[in-house]
Amino acid sequence: MQYRCPKCQSPKIMPVAQAGEPAARPVVPKSLVFLIPAIFVLLLLVIISIAMWLFGDGAGTILQAATVAVFIICAIAGFLFYRDLPDFKISMQAFMQSQKKWKCRECNHEWES
Ligand SMILES: [Zn+2]
Repeated sequence: MQYRCPKCQSPKIMPVAQAGEPAARPVVPKSLVFLIPAIFVLLLLVIISIAMWLFGDGAGTILQAATVAVFIICAIAGFLFYRDLPDFKISMQAFMQSQKKWKCRECNHEWES
């Protein structure tokens, strides 16, 4: 099983939904669901903090406390995701292997594995 287009060798391929068969989805770990928004919020807080340091008289205590709190949430979610990673990989592989029909986003070539 290869994850490249057989025609143009592009890795930009996607599974084509098959009629009559329920779409198999990989099991996304809950830690990842937490981690991604937490990282976005952390980035936002850091950017606001930097902006306040540059244009004001430093980040406020509440902002600093919020940044630290979100950083701790990120660290915990990151650690949980790190633990979930082997299961997530297996789930993703099973999902990739269960897909029979593929389509290339580069050249629109369709094929079955
Ligand atoms: Zn292609």
